[in-house]
Amino acid sequence: MSENLAGLELGGTKTVVVMGMPETIRYRMEFPTTGPEETLDRAVAVIREWQSREPVAALGVASFGPIRVSPQAADFGVMLDVPKPGWTGAPVIPRLSAALGLPLALDTDVNAAALAEQRLGAAQGCEVAVYLNLGTGVGGGIVAAGRSLRGMLHPELGHVRLRRASGDDFAGVCPFHGDCAEGLLSGPALAARFGRHPAGVAPDEPAWHPVAQDLAELLAQIILALSPQRIVIGGGVSARQPQLLPLALARIPAILGGYLRDCTPDALARLVVPPALGDDAGPAGALLLARRAMVAPG
Ligand code: ADP
Ligand code: ZN
Repeated sequence: MSENLAGLELGGTKTVVVMGMPETIRYRMEFPTTGPEETLDRAVAVIREWQSREPVAALGVASFGPIRVSPQAADFGVMLDVPKPGWTGAPVIPRLSAALGLPLALDTDVNAAALAEQRLGAAQGCEVAVYLNLGTGVGGGIVAAGRSLRGMLHPELGHVRLRRASGDDFAGVCPFHGDCAEGLLSGPALAARFGRHPAGVAPDEPAWHPVAQDLAELLAQIILALSPQRIVIGGGVSARQPQLLPLALARIPAILGGYLRDCTPDALARLVVPPALGDDAGPAGALLLARRAMVAPG
């Protein structure tokens, strides 16, 4: 039997620690993400407790960001300028590595979710797959040829700028860009646009139309830039507003202007889908990273 792997999904709101294999999560523990020391120490304590019972071969970390994911960088695993108070400069990987001494691999939470959906979920068999998260923030992970994309930093799909529907003058909420994708489509962006929690806006209200337009614009940019065979859309906003996806998909052909004739309505419905792994995408992705750590740490 193969050894156990440990996975840590470090989210802006909650942290999930798991042990097992990517295909079978055996133990799972969740707690709110507070300050970096407290959160990481808690994760270490959970993993040590499991280790006292069974050997753990490696740790995979799927983290919110921006975080330095290049193993060659001097500041590998250190948080960059993150909006979450107290986390900028937090030495996530140095601290975990010093405490646990395990082979370790790091990626963004959305890259890990993309890996999991591509290996085990809704994007199986796809050479190029995107995982797009619409939640407290907006982020995208990309897998190509079986590997997640980590380049100069890591993809930041949440901060691309979108062409807006004429007459839509909502300023957006991104502190850096105003009306980038995250500034328009995150949960807090919707609350600001509507002037109330989005849960209180009925699915058939016209207020959703400009939101659908923005999502369609984001999806069209992803399709043009990356040519994915699948885009998996997760996160609390998409899960709780299922009407949004069909509204957005219906607008994509017009945005593409007759270009990319393969993007028929039927093809788009197969291309852009909800996650198959649900809440397990991030944790399973972290365990896939742990498996990667055994071959090539970093
Ligand atoms: P996180 O991104 O923090 O991991 P989620 O993916 O669950 O968490 O997304 C949380 C976001 O979903 C919050 O910003 C919240 O406002 C938004 N949200 C919660 N309920 C609804 C709803 N019914 N409709 C639209 N958005 C919602
Ligand atoms: Zn932005």
